[in-house]
Amino acid sequence: MSDKQASFYQSVESNFDKAAALTDHPKGLLEQIKVCNAIYQMNFPVKIGNSYQVIEAYRVQHSHHRLPTKGGIRFSSMVNQDEVMALASLMTFKCAIVDVPFGGAKGGVKVSPRKYNAEQLEKITRRYTVELVRKNFIGPGVDVPAPDYGTGSREMAWILDTYQQMNNGELDSAACVTGKPVNQNGIRGRTEATGRGVFYGLREMLRYEEDCKEWGFKEAGIKGKTMVIQGLGNVGSFTGSISIQEGGAKVIAVSEIEGTIVDENGINIEKLVKYRKSKGSIIGFPGTKTLPKRDDWVGIDCDILVPAALESQIHKGNAKKVKAKIIAEAANGPVTSAAEEILLKKGVVIVPDMFLNAGGVTVSYFEWLKNLSHVRYGRIQKRFDQNVYTNLVDLIQKTTGKTVSKKERQFLTRGADEVDLVRSGLEETMINSYKQIREVYKRRKKVTDLRTAAFIVAINKVSSDYLTLGVFP
Ligand code: NAD
Repeated sequence: MSDKQASFYQSVESNFDKAAALTDHPKGLLEQIKVCNAIYQMNFPVKIGNSYQVIEAYRVQHSHHRLPTKGGIRFSSMVNQDEVMALASLMTFKCAIVDVPFGGAKGGVKVSPRKYNAEQLEKITRRYTVELVRKNFIGPGVDVPAPDYGTGSREMAWILDTYQQMNNGELDSAACVTGKPVNQNGIRGRTEATGRGVFYGLREMLRYEEDCKEWGFKEAGIKGKTMVIQGLGNVGSFTGSISIQEGGAKVIAVSEIEGTIVDENGINIEKLVKYRKSKGSIIGFPGTKTLPKRDDWVGIDCDILVPAALESQIHKGNAKKVKAKIIAEAANGPVTSAAEEILLKKGVVIVPDMFLNAGGVTVSYFEWLKNLSHVRYGRIQKRFDQNVYTNLVDLIQKTTGKTVSKKERQFLTRGADEVDLVRSGLEETMINSYKQIREVYKRRKKVTDLRTAAFIVAINKVSSDYLTLGVFP
């Protein structure tokens, strides 16, 4: 299929078909897993200044095999039905891979957030939520949105407030949306969860020496690996800063709307984020040089290329330029299916979005559980654990006659806070999920890429849900 013909959704379908052909599930079951179950397209008026604007928006629920459905809300001028369908489909497979018990969904509002002020964005978000409530497309047990491109915790707080106004007294209403601010029933560790998950995923896959050799690396491990990041938003910035701080990776280039900057010695991502906030651009960041064209990021020689902006960024037209050994899909759908064919032939390893960026939905699941249980993680056991560890350290000191330093004592006797538990749950999830994908990739001869392996893992899990539901006896 040529790139001109293949839309984002068709790319997802074609990747699905490639994997489905390697399973022995009945055709009808595979068809049911592939299709979008419910598509809601809406147009609503919002008064902006002195005039009314008609806003186009969507919510797509891809699969009802598990409820609620779950997926982010995107604000972008490029939103269209095909894109939201593709993103909703990916959510189903993503949730299955990381064992999050939800069906997939996605929302999209066709607006460019940069063209509106906060008050106008609030109006648009609240009006969109009203539409969702009216059509029963939102609710703790129905469909639970979260942030995506162009939205964040602020928009989620507006959604929560609007939902609660329309569902007064509903005990679990806080679980109608995730990615909320911490003081509005959110969870610590959600903001950086997707980027942190990308880091855990990459670290895990680079742990296997035999695989690293096969992929052309001299040494295993993320330490010292060079990275190029496209998109310095939520996912891109946390992927970069955490990979540097906790993994010892080196980010040698960053691409944003305004251009691409390079520094072979490594770019400090936290400082760059602050710089962009104050100057409105990454261009001119001390120590970096600017490449002639924004899209030159694709061809930079590096170990790991991290597209973290939008879909279809690596396509038939630029795939040949890629020099990286690994493409880490932090964004959803950044590589088109036509580009993927070219890249796989070149021996480039593509780490699929539906695994690698699943950290966001994983921690959203933790937030949803927290909202339903109405208690902060760690609140019940933290002090108890601390007392047990303190007694243990005291006993060891007494029996050995040796004492630990104050710093060591603090480290040994600490009970887990919410953020510790969230990180630990996320780390466990990414490690386990990669193991499942790797096993299919290594064990099945006909599976020659990680995306097909990930799809097979997901299809098998969703099939098994449908079969136990008795829909396909
Ligand atoms: P964001 O809005 O916070 O950041 C995206 C950044 O990409 C922005 O800074 C934007 O200026 C930049 N960008 C856009 N077009 C670009 C281009 N052509 N070149 C360079 N930079 C460009 O969005 P986000 O939440 O970080 O999402 C990014 C991607 O990750 C999306 O594909 C999204 O679906 C996916 N994702 C996000 C989450 C999440 O929790 N936020 C979870 C899973 C997947």
